[in-house]
Parts: sequence; structure tokens; C-alpha cells
Amino acid sequence: MADKPKTKSSIVTENTTPEEEVVFTSLRVSDWEDFVGQEPVKKSIQIGIRAAKKRKESLEHVLLYGPPGLGKTTLSHLIAREMGANIRVTSGPAIERAGDLASILTNLEPGDVLFIDEIHRLNKVVEETLYPAMEEYCLDIIIGKGPSARTVRLDLPKFTIVGATTRAGMLSGPLRDRFGVVHRMVFYNPKNLEQIIEKAARKLKVKIDKKSISEIAKRARGTPRVALRLLKRARDYTQVHGDGSITFETASRALDLIEVDPLGLDNLDRRYLKSIIEKHSGGPVGVETIAASLAEDVGTIEEIVEPYLLQIGFIKRTSRGRVTTPSAYKHLEIKHRNSPEQKSLL
Ligand code: ADP
Repeated sequence: MADKPKTKSSIVTENTTPEEEVVFTSLRVSDWEDFVGQEPVKKSIQIGIRAAKKRKESLEHVLLYGPPGLGKTTLSHLIAREMGANIRVTSGPAIERAGDLASILTNLEPGDVLFIDEIHRLNKVVEETLYPAMEEYCLDIIIGKGPSARTVRLDLPKFTIVGATTRAGMLSGPLRDRFGVVHRMVFYNPKNLEQIIEKAARKLKVKIDKKSISEIAKRARGTPRVALRLLKRARDYTQVHGDGSITFETASRALDLIEVDPLGLDNLDRRYLKSIIEKHSGGPVGVETIAASLAEDVGTIEEIVEPYLLQIGFIKRTSRGRVTTPSAYKHLEIKHRNSPEQKSLL
């Protein structure tokens, strides 16, 4: 099982302040029209919902995977809304014992959606209790102890699990097989992020010009949560240092201040790249070694830092470890030539 990331030093995962919480809640997407991008996932889910409604059945279990902040929780709420069902939200580490799971499941109504975030962090016993619940809508409960213990089967209402994970590879085969559909959420393109920022600014009643919208989108590392966070920072900065409307200048200054660079890399990304470059001559180097030299845990590196750096082609993941590419050196303005060994890996 992956360890919970210890640090919150990344713009993606840093703790949400109470003030941000208020902003994020006011920006919550409540219908499909406002859910921008991820078209294949959206279409497939919408078809599944229409078919399930026609058959008057619950929707099959859905697994959503991808880096944090891409809209997995939001989608699960949209699914419940469209099904006209209630949603119950929990997470893998929160369900500690089989009894916790039993109490959640026995309180569900027919058709309800149970959203399990970080589903890869369910413990083995809970996971095994979940199998018959997902497959046959029943729970086997053991009553009593020792030789007099007996198993009682409880019937459950037909419900839908929406599981979310940042690490599909950490899910056991039997659990993954019990999901009817598995969707991979991908990073958003700048155009989609611009739409998200524009809609959010309208809702927040903040004036912002097109150039600033595209600057924030460029620096949001393909992630709606980051885009909204940056918009909020730009708004705050502008309220203090400007006339309240976000301009390219105030937006850029606000983002420079929190050290998010023009490509959206934050401090942790840069420390990661520099660690490979300066301490390991550009790699190949194992992720455990990089994590140790950054005093971060491997989970944070693999789930939060690397997906975006892979996406923009700054690192390669090879069988011998991570290697930084010429684009990373160029971005960090570090002179270097990849060795013949590195070239063969790139
Ligand atoms: P995840 O569960 O994948 O970590 P969330 O669903 O919590 O991500 O999304 C983070 C934030 O980004 C939320 O405030 C949500 O409103 C916003 N968001 C996510 N996806 C979209 C989207 N496709 N369109 C508009 N806003 C989005």
C-alpha cells in the first residue's frame, strides 16, 4: 500500500485554506454543461447512465483514475445527480474495518452512489468484504467467535460504487475486475482550462482579460484545481495591488510570487529536476533515491510530480530509473549534454 503523501509542498496538493474552501464550494460544477473537457469519459458515462435508467437498474460500478485535481470527485457528484440518487462520500483509508464498510453499505438506498476516494488504500480485509457486495449485492458477516462463529448473509440494495485512484497500478486485479467501466482522466489542454477559468471568474464576479486567462491556463499544469487556485491568488493580489480587475501584469506577478513558473512548475518540480541533474548527473536514477534526497515520499513523487513532467517531456521513465531530457535542462537554463548512455535511454 502506498503511504499517504507526508508533505503538502506542491501547488497541486497543498492544504486548502478555509478561504479557498469557500471559493471552491461556490465554484462546484453542478451540471454536465459546466464540466469542461474529458469528452470520452463524459460521453461514455452519460451513455451508461441513459442505458441504466432505461433498464431501471443502478449504474455499473465506475473506476476513475488519474492525477489529483482532474475532476474525479466532481464527476461522481454529477453521476449521482443524473441518476437522481444520493451520494455518500468516503475514502479508502477512512474505512478501517469490515464493520465500517458494513455500516456504510447497509445504510444505502437503492440506486445510491458510494464514492470511494483513494480506493487503492483500502485494506485487504475491507477489500475482500467489498467483493461480494459489488458483485452480488450482499455482505457476509461473521457473528460470534471461535468454533461457534457463523456467517450470516445480508442482502444489500443495488448501488453504484464510483472508485477514484491516483494509482491504478496499486489496485489489486480482483478489485479492478469488479468495475464495469474504468476511465482514465487525462490532463486538460490549455483551451479547456481557459474555459474553466473564464466560467469561474464569471461566477466569482472577477474582471479578467483574455491574456491573463491564457497565462493562468498555461501555468495550471493541466489541472482544474490548480487553475482555480491560481485564479484565486491572482484575484487576491489584484485586490491588494491593483484596481480589482486581473490584468496580465498582476496575474503574472501573483504567480511569480508563489513561484509557479511559466510552464506551471512549482518548487517541488524544480527541486525534483535539479536533484536528478545535480546529484545524479541527469540519471538514470531510481525514484526511491530521488525521493530520499528530497525528503519526500515516493507516493508524492509518483502521483503528483512525475505525471506532469512526463506529460511535458521533461523526464523519461526507463527500466533503469528516471532520466531528465534536454528540454528540462533548457527550461532550467542548465548547460549539459546527455551522455551516450542517457541518449540511448531517451
Ligand atoms: P479530483 O477528485 O480528481 O482530485 P476534483 O473533482 O476535486 O478533482 O476537482 C478539483 C476542482 O476542479 C473542483 O473544484 C472542481 O470544481 C474543478 N473541476 C474539476 N474538473 C473540472 C471540469 N472538467 N470542469 C470544470 N471544473 C472542474
